Amino acid sequence: MIVEEARGIFSVPHSAAEGKNVIVLGENAAIAIDVGTYPEEGRQMADFISARGYNLNRVIITHGHRDHILGGEAFHGSDVFAPRKTVAEIQRQIPNLSRQMGLDDAAITARILHPTITFENQLWIDLGNRQLHLFPTPGHSPDIVSIYVSDCRLLVASDTVVTGIVPAIFHSSLELQASINRLKQLDIETLISGHGPVLHGQAVIQDWLNWLTTYIGNVRSAISGMIAAGERDRGAILESIGYDEYIGDRLPQDKHGMPKRHRNAVAKIVDEQFSRR
Ligand SMILES: [Zn+2]
Repeated sequence: MIVEEARGIFSVPHSAAEGKNVIVLGENAAIAIDVGTYPEEGRQMADFISARGYNLNRVIITHGHRDHILGGEAFHGSDVFAPRKTVAEIQRQIPNLSRQMGLDDAAITARILHPTITFENQLWIDLGNRQLHLFPTPGHSPDIVSIYVSDCRLLVASDTVVTGIVPAIFHSSLELQASINRLKQLDIETLISGHGPVLHGQAVIQDWLNWLTTYIGNVRSAISGMIAAGERDRGAILESIGYDEYIGDRLPQDKHGMPKRHRNAVAKIVDEQFSRR
């Protein structure tokens, strides 16, 4: 169900782990943010925008992962705003995507919504009565951006702040922590996450941002403590960072392969800590 989360800003669910895309309506234009994995997921967004009398000509890609770039058939021909680094990230993903989707590289390349307007650091997009501020929040991936809409104090956090799954750390846990710490400085009344429930209210949002950075920090401290004490067995370290102790009831253990997501996050931080030595 498409839900209006703040005035003229809608969350649009998609199939990947409680995924959320976003539509922002302005005075002069509408813009879609991310397009899901399957053409019908992007099509639903396109239909919603068209039905409200807007031209279908603008879309933002927050980063180059499959569930953000493969559902965009309905937006081909639109201006596609994306970080410059996303172009390389997409190229890097193509062989994996071909394998995962059972398509050859040419077919997957044709299906991807490719950036047409890229930016190096930050970008402002003007919809007439409101501005979108896109800025880097690396960590989950190297290229990812968040989007802040100041008129309603809403943050589109994409996969930098996930609320329904354990954070997936493909790039750097330290950078992810730093990015989330920067987001804590913003005045946020509504937070739309890339995966999981939309959060409303500053206290709820601050609590979740604090929990995320604490989780990552606690896992890292435990690992570096064990390594400092002479532990060299990665498997033993992995085993000792248990789900119950580090996540408990913050996330539902029986959904979205949650224990495996926790192990993946821990394994990434274990790799980081060993490679520091
Ligand atoms: Zn992602």
